[in-house]
Formats: sequence, C-alpha cells, structure tokens
Amino acid sequence: EEREPICSGCGIAIQTENKEGLGYAPPSALERDVITCQRCFRLKHYNEVQDVSLTDDDFLKILNGLGEKKALIVKVVDIFDFTGSWLPGLHRFVGNNEVLLVGNKVDLLPKSLKQSKLINWMKKSAKELGLKPVDVMLMSAEKGLSIKEVASEIDRLRKGKDVYVVGCTNVGKSTFINQMIKTFGGDTEQLITTSHFPGTTLDMIDIPLEDGRALFDTPGIINHHQMAHHIDKQELKIITPKKEIKPKVFQLNEGQTLYFGGLGRFDFLQGERTSFTCFFSNELTIHRTKQEKAEELYQNHLGELLTPPGPQTKESLPPLVKHSFQVKSNKVDIVFSGLGWVTVNGQNLKVEGYAPKGVSVTIRESII
Ligand code: GDP
Repeated sequence: EEREPICSGCGIAIQTENKEGLGYAPPSALERDVITCQRCFRLKHYNEVQDVSLTDDDFLKILNGLGEKKALIVKVVDIFDFTGSWLPGLHRFVGNNEVLLVGNKVDLLPKSLKQSKLINWMKKSAKELGLKPVDVMLMSAEKGLSIKEVASEIDRLRKGKDVYVVGCTNVGKSTFINQMIKTFGGDTEQLITTSHFPGTTLDMIDIPLEDGRALFDTPGIINHHQMAHHIDKQELKIITPKKEIKPKVFQLNEGQTLYFGGLGRFDFLQGERTSFTCFFSNELTIHRTKQEKAEELYQNHLGELLTPPGPQTKESLPPLVKHSFQVKSNKVDIVFSGLGWVTVNGQNLKVEGYAPKGVSVTIRESII
C-alpha cells in the first residue's frame, strides 16, 4: 500500500500542485528516494527561505501561539507600505511580550529624509494602531544596512529569551532572516533546522542562538489589504521601487487630477495653485488630467494608458474608493498604501485620494 510522501526535512505532506503552498515539491522530486519540499530544499542548499501562503485560520493560530510564549517579538514592516504591511491585531496577541518594531527598505527613501523623523512617525503610528514597541529601528535587509545594529538590539532586548520574527509577505522578512543566519548562524549554520509552529502544520526556521535559545522565523502572513494582491508579479515589479525614489513635482491648479498608473488617483479639489511632490516607484507612470475628464479616462483607458493593472488584472481590480482630506497649514503626505505618497505643501486645501476598495489612503504629517 502506498503512503503519502512526506518531506524529509520538515515532515509536511508533499504536494505537487500549488507552487506557493506548503509542502510543494516539483513532480520530479517524487522519483527520488529522499523527498524534500521546495522550502526545505532551498533552505538546505542555498540557505534561503521562501514564503508560503497562509489561511486566515493558520494566521490566528500563529498569533495565539505567540502570546503563550515568553519571547521577544520582532515585527518587520515595509516602511514604503507601512499601513499595508502592519498586521493589524498583533498587539492583542503578543501578551506581555515586548515587541521590537523594525522598518525595512530604508534604502528606497530619498536621502533628504531624516531617519529620526521617520522613526518618530513610526512610533506615533504604532501607538495609534495599539502597539507600544520597546524600540523602533530602520534597516535595509537587501542592502545590508543596519543589520548588525538590529542584531545586537535583538540580543540586548531578548534577555535570554527566544525570538520570534513576524511580518506579512513582501516586507523583506526572508531577506532579513537570511541576513540573521549570516550574523547569528556563524559556524552553526549546519544546526539551522525547521520545526512546526505548535498547533499548526506550518514550519518555521530556527536559528540557534548561543545560550541554547533560538530565533524563529514565523511564516509570512498574507494581508489581503495589500495593493500587491490586486496585480500580478510583473506589475508588482513596476510599482515596487528598487532604487532610491526620485520625487516628481507637479504644479497643479484646483480641478486637476493625477493618476498613478490605474491603481491610485489624486484630485486637487480646492485651493490656490500649489506644488505636489509625488513619491512613487520611478517606473510607475503618472498621468495628469482635468478632474471633469478623470472618470471617463479611467473607464476608457484602464489597463492600457493607466497601467498597472494590465488588461487581465484590471478585470478583478476592486473599484476605486474616494477618501477626502482637508489640509490646513502644515505639510502633509497623502499616503496610498503599497503605492507611495503625495506631499502637499499649501494652505487651506481640499484634496481627495482614491485607491481600490480595501486599500487604505491616509494622511500624515510629512516625513520629508
Ligand atoms: P518576504 O515576503 O517578507 O519574505 O519578503 P522577501 O524577502 O521575499 O522580499 C520581498 C521583496 O522585497 C523582494 O523583491 C526583495 O528583493 C525586496 N526587499 C527585501 N528587502 C529589501 C530592502 O531592504 N530594500 C529593498 N529595496 N527591497 C527589499
């Protein structure tokens, strides 16, 4: 009688259908004597970790599990998509555990940005969202910026306890874990293993720490409010900045509209002619039009002139939803979650931001 194949690394049931799912292995792997899922294979041979998609049920189990441990929680967010990558509700689950909040992808922000200002804004926003982190730090996992500082802060704050790294997909958690493997793993690289997250079939990566404790990588959590889920991989590349953002400045009169591809819209409703500085991926096309023509343009040209989305993904894109803002006298940013932001520098203005339903548009004091 045939038995279900399981992974030699983590013990999960092997499947060959869903590449993004747990336990995936290419069909050819089934012919081997020792079968390893793709995730464990990559970990073993390339010291690389991969994301898997999680159901909301597993997500809740992980969150519940965290509160039962005595550990330091390291929460990674994408500073370019702070609200979209936030993981709402985490604070209710961490119990008495301290949380170190780490903002990743700092390399994308213009050099003119003061990091202290960004850190203060992150502290303030975290508090508004119900979380009081013990510390807030910035890093670039990809460029290797401030990795050592984050590692030593983790070591200081954990006070002999285990560490759990959490974050939603696309924040750069895998890139960060790989950096931690280099930093903490040292000679013990062979000791890195995977283990199940208690009560789930999900596996985590354990990086042994010197006092017998471990740093655990919890599976990346999919946040359905992220812009990233409305477009395909190719289109995601366009909206995700890869290099330092070059701001684009528009002088607008009231009654003018900007489209950010077809994923965001900004209307200058009322006020004196003023300048609007746009911080988006350098590859994303910005279209200026008259507000009275904006709707028609969208109806007729979404997916081509206004892209991304593409001709395919536009079919399932939720309708744009309007968010209205009053700008009194301070410099503010209108933030399109997962896309970028517009800095408004003027007085007594009325503006509107549009994003696909479920994706947030918010206002904050300007961080530049
Ligand atoms: P995960 O889903 O959270 O594990 O994220 P990944 O580590 O797979 O990274 C998601 C994307 O963000 C990839 O395209 C990475 O190249 C990119 N990325 C990760 N860290 C950084 C960073 O520090 N700066 C920039 N610019 N991109 C990053």
